[in-house]
Amino acid sequence: MNSARDPRIAIVGAGLGGLACARVLQRHGRSATVFEREASADARPQGGTLDLHADTGQTALRAAGLLDPFHALARPEGEEWRVLDFTDAALLAHQGPSAGGGRPEIDRGQLRELLLDSLTEGTVRWDRAVSRVTPLADGTCRLLFADGAAEDFDLVVGADGAWSRVRPALSHAAPRYTGVTFVETGFDHCDTRHPDLARLVGNGSMLAKGAGRSLVAQRNSNGHIRAYIALRTPQDWHMAAGIDLGDQRAVRAHLLRMFDDWDESLRYILRDSDSGFINRPLFVLPAPHTWQHVAGVTLLGDAAHLMPPVGLGANLAMLDGSDLAHALVTEPSIDDAVRAYESIMLPRSIEAATSSAQGLDHLVPAVTS
Ligand SMILES: Cc1cc2nc3c(=O)[nH]c(=O)nc-3n(C[C@H](O)[C@H](O)[C@H](O)COP(=O)(O)OP(=O)(O)OC[C@H]3O[C@@H](n4cnc5c(N)ncnc54)[C@H](O)[C@@H]3O)c2cc1C
Repeated sequence: MNSARDPRIAIVGAGLGGLACARVLQRHGRSATVFEREASADARPQGGTLDLHADTGQTALRAAGLLDPFHALARPEGEEWRVLDFTDAALLAHQGPSAGGGRPEIDRGQLRELLLDSLTEGTVRWDRAVSRVTPLADGTCRLLFADGAAEDFDLVVGADGAWSRVRPALSHAAPRYTGVTFVETGFDHCDTRHPDLARLVGNGSMLAKGAGRSLVAQRNSNGHIRAYIALRTPQDWHMAAGIDLGDQRAVRAHLLRMFDDWDESLRYILRDSDSGFINRPLFVLPAPHTWQHVAGVTLLGDAAHLMPPVGLGANLAMLDGSDLAHALVTEPSIDDAVRAYESIMLPRSIEAATSSAQGLDHLVPAVTS
């Protein structure tokens, strides 16, 4: 990029997509500042395990120069998948790790730490929530922070996830409920404290599904199993059932009733989990989600293409970040770079959103009367 000075690039959000973008830029000698609303790197647990695909997440890590440290942390055996019959827990289908370890698993927290540690000190400004973005007439963009401060940049990258504050500068689209809610719970020291469940889950993931209800359990690092109780249900299911989500015993009892025709070894997930239940209604952006190019601002990851969580979102967010950074270091101007990036990211995300919607239908089958 030909510029008399280093362009001022702001990345809003220190998720996997924003961090991948910052890392690839820095690897090419460019600077960027990441503004993150959370107070610190460990302000909240980062969530479960992710399988990184060779053609997306791993491609981004290669561009970031982090593929080897990734492989040192990753769990290739975690690729294993089991599908069980919900009535008797019999094995219906089994897929072992692919030859060559195409999609190794890694805990999201480990991956985020790897990216954070790779950045120049001070790149991430913690506790800097962005409230709004205003494109300016000269092609630059103004960031307004929640504390009332404002700062102008040559490019603002919205990497701020599902409920992006940057997105309204480009599009009126808003996330809508998918009709599916994941209720998350977890098990610690599974091999010693929950050996039967550990055997059911194996080294990777286990799925059992019935009409409108599924159970997914995934082995994370350190003997932790994270489970999702997937429900095809109105978003206010707990209110309709008269349940206070803060009353964990009531949630547990209700879920056990919902799965009363399931095999007891699977109901164990509802009955004996160590952690409480976290309600996670799933939202998506309308697909296709596109926008007219606006100088000085773009989106990546969930901010651009929030889709059902069936294994693509984090991979695509990282690839977006890496592709955008690559365009910024190879194209002659910021505007050319953003146009080049959007011309590959938008069609790719439309395709992925369609396949993810089908994936969610497969994961949690509709109730047919
Ligand atoms: C239950 C579940 C399981 C999933 N499993 C998988 C999987 O197996 N594989 C996969 O590929 N994907 C998976 N996904 C999807 C994946 O989590 C997302 O697609 C991915 O995290 C998107 O990354 P991102 O960087 O775009 O956004 P995020 O990870 O959401 O990061 C956004 C960042 O922006 C910050 N932020 C938000 N608002 C502001 C603001 N106003 N100002 C400053 N900072 C802000 C947030 O604090 C956050 O740090 C799953 C999702 C869910 C819900």
